[in-house]
Amino acid sequence: MPSDMDMPKEAESNDKFIVKYRQQYYDLSRFMHKHPGGINTLKGLNSGDMTARFLKAPPHSDAAMYLMREYKIDPEDSGKPKSSQRETLHPDKDETLRQRPTEDTEDKNNNQVDESMEHLVDWSKAMLPQIANITDCYDEWVHKPVDRPLRLFEPWYLEMCTKTPWWLVPLFWIPVIVKCALEEFTSAWQDSNQLAVFTGYLLFGVLLWSFLEYTLHRWVFHVKLSSKTGSWLCTFHFMIHGLHHKVPFDPMRLVFPPLPGAVLAAIIYTPLSFVLSHPRVVLSGALAGYLCYDMMHYYLHYGNPSLGAFVHMKRYHHHHHFSHQTLGYGISSPLWDVVFKTRIHLRKLRYQLRWS
Ligand SMILES: [Zn+2]
Ligand SMILES: [Zn+2]
Ligand SMILES: [Zn+2]
Repeated sequence: MPSDMDMPKEAESNDKFIVKYRQQYYDLSRFMHKHPGGINTLKGLNSGDMTARFLKAPPHSDAAMYLMREYKIDPEDSGKPKSSQRETLHPDKDETLRQRPTEDTEDKNNNQVDESMEHLVDWSKAMLPQIANITDCYDEWVHKPVDRPLRLFEPWYLEMCTKTPWWLVPLFWIPVIVKCALEEFTSAWQDSNQLAVFTGYLLFGVLLWSFLEYTLHRWVFHVKLSSKTGSWLCTFHFMIHGLHHKVPFDPMRLVFPPLPGAVLAAIIYTPLSFVLSHPRVVLSGALAGYLCYDMMHYYLHYGNPSLGAFVHMKRYHHHHHFSHQTLGYGISSPLWDVVFKTRIHLRKLRYQLRWS
C-alpha cells in the first residue's frame, strides 16, 4: 500500500474495500460481487488509488458513474456510506431542489458525473406515493441506479407483498406446468403421432413465451415516458419494472410475484384458448419458458457463470441496465432483439470475467 496515499483507517480492516478515485474515497465492499465488469478486474485496488486504472478501463456509462456515488465515504467519518447520511430533505418543502444541477463535472472517462437526483425523494419513506411528485423528471430519475433499501408501501402488510424470494417462483409454477402438461399428455401417451403433435405445441408455447418476454419488456415494461407522463402511468411503471432499474441489486424485487403473474397469465391465456388447439399444452410450454426466463434473470444478476453463453447473456443484460436501456430487451435469449434490430453488440473480451 503506498504510504503517501493518506487512506482512511478503515482501509486496513478486512471487510472493507476502500479505493481512492479523483480525490474521493469509496468503499466497494458491498459492490465488488455486483460489479458488472467482474470482481477479478478490481483485484489489487484495495487501499489504492484507482484513478489511473479506471481511466484506462473500458468506458463506464453515466448510470455506472451515478451508481458509484452510492459507495462514497467520508475519510473523516467511520466509513459510513454518504448516501445514508444525506437526502433527508423533503422534496415538497423546497421547490428550488427540483432545478437541474448546473455544475456538471467532466470526467476523463468520457462521463458527465452529474449531481444526484435522490434529494427529489425521501428514501426513508414509502416510495410509491412519492412517484406522483416527480413525474416531470421520473424518466431520468428511474434510469439512474442506486444501491439502497427500497420501501414501496408504508403499511407493513402491503410492503410484505412486494417482496418475492426467487424460489417461490418454481415452487408455485412447476406444479401448474406439470398438471397442465400431464392432463393432455397422458391421453396421447400410446399414440406416437399424437405425442409428436403435442411436443410441437409444447415447443410452440416456449417460443410464444420468448416472443412475449420481448414484447412485454420492450413495450409494457419500457413504455415510452416523458416529462408529461401522468402520475398513474409513472407509478405503474415503477411498480412493474422501473424499480428493478432503480434498485437493480434488490434480490427480493427481481422475479415476478406469482399471484400477479397468475392474473397476467389468465388475461393472456383466456382469449388464446379460444383460437388455439390444445391450449393447455401451449400454456404449459409458455409457462415453462417463463420459468426459465425468470430463473435466468435472477441467475444473470447474482450468478457467477463460467459457460460462455451465460457470461455473454449476463454482460448483455448488464448493458441493458446500465448502458443501453432502449436496447437488449431479450433476457433468456437475444433472438427477438435480432429480429427487431435492438441487439447490443458486445466487445470481445481478452480476459475471463468472474463475479465471485
Ligand atoms: Zn467497472
Ligand atoms: Zn428493462
Ligand atoms: Zn435485470
